[in-house]
Amino acid sequence: MIKYPYYLCLFLTICHSCDEKHNHPNLLEQDALKVAKAKVIVDLSHDYSAETIYWVTAKEFQLDTVFKGDTDKGFYYAANNFSTAEHGGTHIDAPIHFAKNGQTVDEIPLEKLMGPAIKIDVSKSAFTSPDYLISIQDFLDWEEKENTQIPEGSIVLLQTNYSKYYPDKLKYLGTEERGPDAIKQLHFPGLSPEAATWLVEKRNINAIGLDTPSIDFGQSEYFKSHVILLSKNIPVFENLTNLDQLPASGFEIIALPMKIKEGSGAPLRIVAILNP
Ligand SMILES: [Zn+2]
Repeated sequence: MIKYPYYLCLFLTICHSCDEKHNHPNLLEQDALKVAKAKVIVDLSHDYSAETIYWVTAKEFQLDTVFKGDTDKGFYYAANNFSTAEHGGTHIDAPIHFAKNGQTVDEIPLEKLMGPAIKIDVSKSAFTSPDYLISIQDFLDWEEKENTQIPEGSIVLLQTNYSKYYPDKLKYLGTEERGPDAIKQLHFPGLSPEAATWLVEKRNINAIGLDTPSIDFGQSEYFKSHVILLSKNIPVFENLTNLDQLPASGFEIIALPMKIKEGSGAPLRIVAILNP
């Protein structure tokens, strides 16, 4: 019932444009199509399924079928229930995750989640080094190569290439075990607390994300990089993918989490729009 008027509108629009095409080409429409085709959109999100990787102590994703099939009234119908922890799969950490007075996920200003972004490729050092800590030097190297400082108000993405291991838990997390005892066995790269401090003190970024399970590396005990970034209301995106398809700069991010009231985090659909 909700969809009916939408389809009707679409039908009328298509008929309308067919008509115009036959009579006289609609130049505006052609231009708009050209622009739309020139834009490349890269999906940086993993899907949610039984394979989705969660923190070893978090409840995993579950999808339960409510109904799927033809009804006795003649129409087809499908609906599911799902449940998930906030922090699993491609998700956002809201500042309150590690900062008492930080914003909850519904309070994060949209301006922080959409806008110009850069990518820093540290995969040469990080991909085969599970305990690698992304350093201040990695940021300085990017700035030297790109001949610019990390731009004011940008979204910073860190590429380790760990997403290539996803969803193999042993390779991606360092362990297939679950529960509190598995935490000590976690091995994957992350951002060093020194580099997190440098970012908040020397540069002014809107958000940060990476293609590993956590912004702090697997062997972290005190989650200092979380604390440093989230205390400054800088949201963190975790378990990203397809970062290898992005250039070092010149693209935009749209990162929209589920708007959970008072949430400490949420599933995140994040895409990059590459400039033509
Ligand atoms: Zn998280």
